Amino acid sequence: MNLPERLCPLCLKNDSLPILSLTPEDVVSLNVGYELKRFRDALQGYENQLIYSQCSCGMIYCKFRWPDTILSQVYEQTIDHAMSVRKIFRLERRLYLIRQWENVLRIFAIHGKEYVEGLRVLDFGCGWGDSLDVYRGPGVETFGFELDRLKIEGALKRGNRILQTQEELEALEPVDVFILNAVIEHVQEGQDLMRLAYNKLKPGGVLVLSTMDFRPTFIRKNINNSALGKPLLSQHFNPVEHVNIYDYFTVQRTLEIFGFKSFASWNVMQWAALPVPYLRNSRLWIRALNQIENLLAHLFQNKERAITVYALKKK
Ligand SMILES: [Zn+2]
Repeated sequence: MNLPERLCPLCLKNDSLPILSLTPEDVVSLNVGYELKRFRDALQGYENQLIYSQCSCGMIYCKFRWPDTILSQVYEQTIDHAMSVRKIFRLERRLYLIRQWENVLRIFAIHGKEYVEGLRVLDFGCGWGDSLDVYRGPGVETFGFELDRLKIEGALKRGNRILQTQEELEALEPVDVFILNAVIEHVQEGQDLMRLAYNKLKPGGVLVLSTMDFRPTFIRKNINNSALGKPLLSQHFNPVEHVNIYDYFTVQRTLEIFGFKSFASWNVMQWAALPVPYLRNSRLWIRALNQIENLLAHLFQNKERAITVYALKKK
């Protein structure tokens, strides 16, 4: 028996072809936090649908729609929660979140804002809420949205405000910053999520979207490995959790389709901080760096990467 199918999350067509099939053993060998028997049980006999397909538009995704019963078993019982909470104490992660917040503030500075006042931030899929702890401060109101009970408890304990239902989310007034950190690759209804982000942002607001950035040559390397019986090159290949695999180009196209204007990516914002101060808050400088990054994206395709994009809702 097959599960129902999803349309391509980018172009909404249904003409994808399988490119990479995994076994439960493959997935478990990539994810140290997974236990084989639990994962097998969670899959409820649909083990042969751990398949990535590629659409004619280039988008890579798992075209099978996992039912909620399977998803909740995988997310609640297969994942090692102790390991998951440990990650929020990683120094590198904290630095990442600080730099991300710095970039958001710099974008406001570039657009003429002088004071941190009345800023409303929503982190959708905020997990343990460690990002909210970093963004919080005078003039900033933070909200998280999360469904995992354990993570909600952890976030609430440190005084965060966490929305827990669809109704609470709908009732939330528009925000200045909408954060999607490592969420879009998990979502079977990506279009709904992008629409929500657009509707919840004020005009001129900033969308922060981070995800894996697996470009064609890297994907091909993995397909070759799989054909030769060699291990895959990233622990992120997991067609149940990561149902959408984006790269630099499909992320940019997704933003365009949903009416966002890509402002800069992670690398560009980091490079923008390097030169002398008078270039730091310059739109022209950012634009030049965007062009360089676009060129580099075409040239260097062979490694596992991640991307963070900062996009604006047009005024
Ligand atoms: Zn497509």
